[in-house]
Amino acid sequence: MSNSVVSYLLKLFFSVLICILLLICSQPITSVQATPPMEIASSGEVPPDRNIVAEFGKLFADWSGKEKAVNAVGAGEMNPGNGESNPGNSVEEKFVYLTFDDGPDPDWTPLVLDMLVRHNAQAAFFVVGRSVKTYPEVILQMAQAGQMIANHSYNHVSLSELSWQGFYYELKDTENAVREILTPYPDLEQQVGLCIRPPYGDVNGNVWTYAYRLQYDVSMWSLDTLDWTGLKAEAIVKAVMDKVKPGAIILMHDGGKDRSETVKALGLILHELTIQGYHFPALCTATGQVSQ
Ligand SMILES: [Zn+2]
Repeated sequence: MSNSVVSYLLKLFFSVLICILLLICSQPITSVQATPPMEIASSGEVPPDRNIVAEFGKLFADWSGKEKAVNAVGAGEMNPGNGESNPGNSVEEKFVYLTFDDGPDPDWTPLVLDMLVRHNAQAAFFVVGRSVKTYPEVILQMAQAGQMIANHSYNHVSLSELSWQGFYYELKDTENAVREILTPYPDLEQQVGLCIRPPYGDVNGNVWTYAYRLQYDVSMWSLDTLDWTGLKAEAIVKAVMDKVKPGAIILMHDGGKDRSETVKALGLILHELTIQGYHFPALCTATGQVSQ
């Protein structure tokens, strides 16, 4: 074999070898460039979307802010039993609702108000419209004491027997009488609650339907002190202390007849429940109420 043939064969061999090596080395690079995974391409080249990050931050802030607000103010309304089941939570969760029917009364209501203010307590007063007209100054005192003024009908009648028109006027005449008294005091208008406590606890389908139509809540109770039966103060206190639990809605009366025993009992009840760590928000609020 001549030298030139050997040289030619060697060149051919190395050329083929280099081609094979180039082919092998270039294969993976070519394949990555041809089909880049979307995640790699976007994470390396596209900057994070600042709007999305800001939006997420805002959502988180809103969410965590709402959580705080619910715990501080409305937790009781959302879940009345929490105070008992989660003793480690904030004390605001242990509360009862005090409610007074049949006022306003010029003799007894101011004494009740005085005691509530002294104990930093709020209550809902379910007032009778015709008494509102007679004792407007007592309604003003209620509002100025930071209490909630709710509805107990104009004539203290059984609502279940009324037509729509009759129901409408029983509620609206009472509400308007209260609003008229508070008109010169715009800051106090928030003390008017759209809650109706049906006299005698008398409810039926019509009452629920009509109340809903007027955007009223129907406010019943869960703990009757029976003060309306003429019990002595000690018996009224016992009725409360025996049955009270977080979220209870306590029924008492500040009008209709002599309420001296209720007033006496209220002082002891407020004192004892305060020692036990209870707070006293109003049942009927601008945003709703507990449904039992
Ligand atoms: Zn009543």
